[in-house]
Amino acid sequence: MKFGGTSVGSAERIRSAANRVLERRSRKPVVVTSAVAGITDLLIRGAKLSLKHETEAGAIPDQILNRHRALVSEMFPAGAVKDRLLAHIQGVVAELRTLYMGVHYLEELTPRSLDAISAMGERLSCELVAATLEQQGIPAVAIDARTVVVTDETFGRAHPLVRETEERVRARLLPAVEAGKVPVLGGFIAGTRDGVTTTLGRGGSDWSAALVGALLPAEEIQIWTDVDGMLTVDPRTVKSARLIPEISFDEAAELAYFGAKVLHPATIKPAVEKLIPVLILNSMNPSAKGTRITADAPGEVGEPRAIAFKRGITVVIISQPRMLMAYGFVARVFEAFESHRTPVDLIATSEVSVSLTVDDPERLAAIQQDLVELGEVQVLRPMAIVSVIGRGFNRKPGLAGRIFQALHEVNIVMISFGASDVNVSLVVAEADAERAVRAVHETFFEGRR
Ligand code: ADP
Ligand code: ASP
Ligand code: MG
Repeated sequence: MKFGGTSVGSAERIRSAANRVLERRSRKPVVVTSAVAGITDLLIRGAKLSLKHETEAGAIPDQILNRHRALVSEMFPAGAVKDRLLAHIQGVVAELRTLYMGVHYLEELTPRSLDAISAMGERLSCELVAATLEQQGIPAVAIDARTVVVTDETFGRAHPLVRETEERVRARLLPAVEAGKVPVLGGFIAGTRDGVTTTLGRGGSDWSAALVGALLPAEEIQIWTDVDGMLTVDPRTVKSARLIPEISFDEAAELAYFGAKVLHPATIKPAVEKLIPVLILNSMNPSAKGTRITADAPGEVGEPRAIAFKRGITVVIISQPRMLMAYGFVARVFEAFESHRTPVDLIATSEVSVSLTVDDPERLAAIQQDLVELGEVQVLRPMAIVSVIGRGFNRKPGLAGRIFQALHEVNIVMISFGASDVNVSLVVAEADAERAVRAVHETFFEGRR
């Protein structure tokens, strides 16, 4: 059972999360928790401010201290548990101050230091959640996830080492479960073989939960969040978004990858491999059925299941009329991206030009320098990718027509259709994205039952 930041965002929510665990006690749950809502952002902001010598940075450890202290005071009566929790919070925050100071004086914030800093939210929340469970009569034990989830050393977006993690899950989690306890781990945080703190990337708690769930192995992985499940579109953009009761792994992964924040993109993989169903549930509305993600969810072939979108995209267009009928052009274009380790997402080509999108424009200037050798380079931004997700798209006549009809008033910059039969993606200017998403949603989901 994984609880996201808002699901542990207040005393009331933490208690209600504990109730969800209590209800399922006979199923021997293992709990994975995110940091308290907003804390990871705050930790990272403080690190960046320390680097820039901004005095505001000094206030952030206090904010984090006060927020957690207030939760503890609201939830626990005077006594040993409260004292232990307060001492833990004090200890972690003292460490945070030292790290901020280090960043300040060294004038350096490496991905490794940032991981040590951003991991603190989950180090705090897992103790709090475990103590709440105990308070409600559920024997629980907080386990430092950095000693369970083992990763490589790609700080900031580390990759789990499955074999090592499996051994630790066997050695540390299973005995606790067998002894009738509920282990509580922070999501998102992990450690290298040598015990250096790493993180799985923002939103990575889902991944921790799916990985641990797959390795136990669990009979089910429950992701408890602040919406009723996976919806046909982000409800923050389109109010009339609808619940998707059941969705296939492929579709869910595609949806996650193309921007639906409800699930971290890598989440699905460990569960898919072991055929463990993943449920998305609402901790604020526990009686709702949620979304069930399974290997082969039923659904109408060719009917879109959901719409996702991603802002902040850059489009690069390389044109070279002399390349007409020549070979090797596309290979050289990709070499430029590869040598600067920048992933390319969507691609469209014609005889004399290649258009592609990148998510991370950090190395774009260097890439552009390489590309001008190949032809004329045009860069468009900020753009957005709007993706229509479903399956069997290449077996359904008229689908593209309906999408284009919905977008007849929007300027489409790029199209990717047919690379997979589960996704049609379009690139539009960022300023047009919400309008495009609403129009496509209306066409496919509103008025349909
Ligand atoms: P948590 O803290 O529980 O991990 P997140 O904020 O990471 O929660 O993810 C939940 C949010 O994802 C929702 O509040 C919603 O705004 C957003 N979201 C984006 N696309 C979708 C979608 N298709 N279905 C449901 N939620 C979505
Ligand atoms: N707390 C981490 C974040 O905000 C991980 C997560 O919540 O999934 O990114
Ligand atoms: Mg999340």
